[in-house]
Amino acid sequence: MLTASRTQIFRHTFAFFEKYGHPPQEVELQVSFGKGADGFWTNCFPSVLVTRFSDDIKKFGRLLKLVKWAMPLLGLVPIWLLLRVMFFRREFADKFVYPLIALFLGTGNQTPHVPSAIVERLFDDPNMKLWDYDAETLLPNRPKMVTFGNLDRFYRDWAEDLTRQGVDIRLNTEVVAITSRSSDGVRLQTRPARPGPPTEERFDELVLCTLADDALRLLGKTASARERLVLGGARFYDDVTVTHSDREYFVRHYETAFSPALCAEPRTDAERSRVAFARGDDPAAPGGFRPMYFTKSYGGAGAGRIEMSFDCSNYQHQLLAATTERPGEHDHVYQSIFLDSRKQELCEWDFVFFAFFSHGFPWPCYAGQEPRAYFTH
Ligand SMILES: Cc1cc2nc3c(=O)[nH]c(=O)nc-3n(C[C@H](O)[C@H](O)[C@H](O)COP(=O)(O)OP(=O)(O)OC[C@H]3O[C@@H](n4cnc5c(N)ncnc54)[C@H](O)[C@@H]3O)c2cc1C
Repeated sequence: MLTASRTQIFRHTFAFFEKYGHPPQEVELQVSFGKGADGFWTNCFPSVLVTRFSDDIKKFGRLLKLVKWAMPLLGLVPIWLLLRVMFFRREFADKFVYPLIALFLGTGNQTPHVPSAIVERLFDDPNMKLWDYDAETLLPNRPKMVTFGNLDRFYRDWAEDLTRQGVDIRLNTEVVAITSRSSDGVRLQTRPARPGPPTEERFDELVLCTLADDALRLLGKTASARERLVLGGARFYDDVTVTHSDREYFVRHYETAFSPALCAEPRTDAERSRVAFARGDDPAAPGGFRPMYFTKSYGGAGAGRIEMSFDCSNYQHQLLAATTERPGEHDHVYQSIFLDSRKQELCEWDFVFFAFFSHGFPWPCYAGQEPRAYFTH
């Protein structure tokens, strides 16, 4: 199960999935951020919060242009600082900017430190952007994105095809260390996943596709100063991802359905049709507002921190079809991501219990990373 936006960066993914007969399926991005009329906003229908922050949303568009124009100077400034010196309201940063970036960049609670250049690219870069900036609602109304299915069959077919072409695919094999790199090739030690003595092998070229800290560890003494600078700049935080079907938890913490109390008075025909869609009045989309991405901002001691969740049954095309055809017959599949396990006291779930069902994901933090990436180009 995987989702992606229809941007250039995913073109190879699309091409491979199409080649092996599993073309991506289009769905519409629907978000639900925050809880209650004074905390909630969405890209599906006008909300009280969007109306209240409409000036900041427009000003944010001008900020993106400014960052693009003054990229070498402003690009490195963390987004929190730029928002502050440009006199954006703190609430706008907390309720709009940070949840949006955190959810889609995976930067979690480190989001305020993301360099402004990355935020600008997220909206503007034709190869990288996930959506267009919208001067009225910040996010465009239900932009298209895609989901993939049959991943097991796709990877099996791809692997078989590559094997036929003479590629040696070795699963369950660990690269223990890279022992030398020279014009003569790369020498590395490998061993089967089960403990055993490592074997020394030589290759002409090596492409490392691991997390930055793993790559640095493997490069060891062979790492150049530039590699140390770039790979050493990534910081990781342990997040806990729980896949569950606890509807009661979801409804309590997130806005999962349309409610007139959340809706602002529509001012245009476009807004009226969005409200009609969200209510489920459109016969072509009787499900109405079915958000897939959610964020919740903690209050009290956790102010400024967020929790993210997905309703997989609202975005994965197979689950969407099944739950639309036979509503109520299937439990929804949810995923909740609790950011930064060091702050787990903020979460009401017991992770010792859930450790049976979840993985701790090291989530890369891009804070401070963009300057180094520039440096290496
Ligand atoms: C909960 C969650 C939901 C997500 N949802 C989406 C989504 O819907 N859409 C999307 O596009 N992205 C999503 N992502 C992000 C996506 O999963 C990652 O961006 C992607 O997996 C990164 O792929 P990668 O190949 O770069 O790294 P990885 O998937 O981390 O692969 C690196 C591999 O290297 C292996 N490795 C490490 N060290 C060694 C070694 N010494 N020897 C041999 N092998 C080694 C690891 O075992 C691993 O298999 C999600 C991530 C999470 C955590």
